[in-house]
Amino acid sequence: MLEVVQEDHEFDLAGSARLDVLVSAIKPRQASQVVKDLSELLPLERAKLNHLKRIRSSQHPETGRLLQVLLSPPDMYHALDEAKRKEIVERYGLEPTVHAVPKLEPRTRAQFLSGGSAWPMIFHHSTSEEARRAARVIPEQDALDAIGFMRDALVDAETGRQQNGGRPTVGAVLVDPLGGCGGRRGRVVATASRERQKVRDEEPASMRDHPLHHAVMLCVQGVGRALAAGSRQEKVARKQEEDSAGGKLGKEREGKGSESLCSDADPPGGVVEVLSPEQYLCTGFDLYVTREPCLMCAMALVHSRVRRVIYGVRDTERGCLGSVTMLHTLTSLNHNYRVFEGVCADECRQSLSDRESKHAAVLP
Ligand SMILES: [Zn+2]
Repeated sequence: MLEVVQEDHEFDLAGSARLDVLVSAIKPRQASQVVKDLSELLPLERAKLNHLKRIRSSQHPETGRLLQVLLSPPDMYHALDEAKRKEIVERYGLEPTVHAVPKLEPRTRAQFLSGGSAWPMIFHHSTSEEARRAARVIPEQDALDAIGFMRDALVDAETGRQQNGGRPTVGAVLVDPLGGCGGRRGRVVATASRERQKVRDEEPASMRDHPLHHAVMLCVQGVGRALAAGSRQEKVARKQEEDSAGGKLGKEREGKGSESLCSDADPPGGVVEVLSPEQYLCTGFDLYVTREPCLMCAMALVHSRVRRVIYGVRDTERGCLGSVTMLHTLTSLNHNYRVFEGVCADECRQSLSDRESKHAAVLP
């Protein structure tokens, strides 16, 4: 179970990862002295550029070997005492020009290689890429919980397959991680197959196999149904309180109003029928889905304020939480959730395969 984060992508040196600095050609024999003087006058740490090397050596088409020194960002250079600046410029014959370099330290080998073409960088493989990879792995107990709920999503996928005449179908469940029942940490509040069945049983025939009814959308709709049921139940209870003489019953209920959403009526491993109207959409809930969600589903999860998305395998053609794009990392959106991949990946892959080899594609 590995978190899907932005650092998997290469630096965008034409965009936000770029920083303009001043560089100048120097003579090779001056190199060690100029590095010493500049580390006192314009230290790279102060400019937060200690991931960059001070000197770059390259081949010039006419003069042969070209040595360049990184001075600093322009504002830092111009803020230098004028006499000191003049002295160093004259001593080494500096001619500062603007050059774009990577603004941030490389966190992966891919970033190191793409950024290094602009200016040589320092890359601590052991303390960056591997350590960061380790930090993206989830604690063991969380991972065990995740396996349990992904198995529920796999069961949902199997039910979906039966509902869809044997066609492989994505499975999804929404989980309230704080609502444990029957000794389990967390409880399922919606499943795609259950909502699919409800649509078939209760809605007009035109809603059956609706193109927007992807497994994730059905789960979100299932939460909406449970919230509406909770709202109805509360109205009935309030009416009963008003009708009851004296208001004693009303006082008893007041104390219970903010209790956990978990009730004895929820069977362990079963799906919750009713959610308290105090719950706002899917706030705090985690989605487990066998395959990476598409753009529509990923955006619906933003709108419904989900906490985390955990998927089994990537969808390299349509997946928008790591494959085609990374919707969850867009800071311009008004809500962001965390994304994890690779839980029960082999079982999910198996679940999405067409055992009978007669179906065109997996039902999303
Ligand atoms: Zn979808």
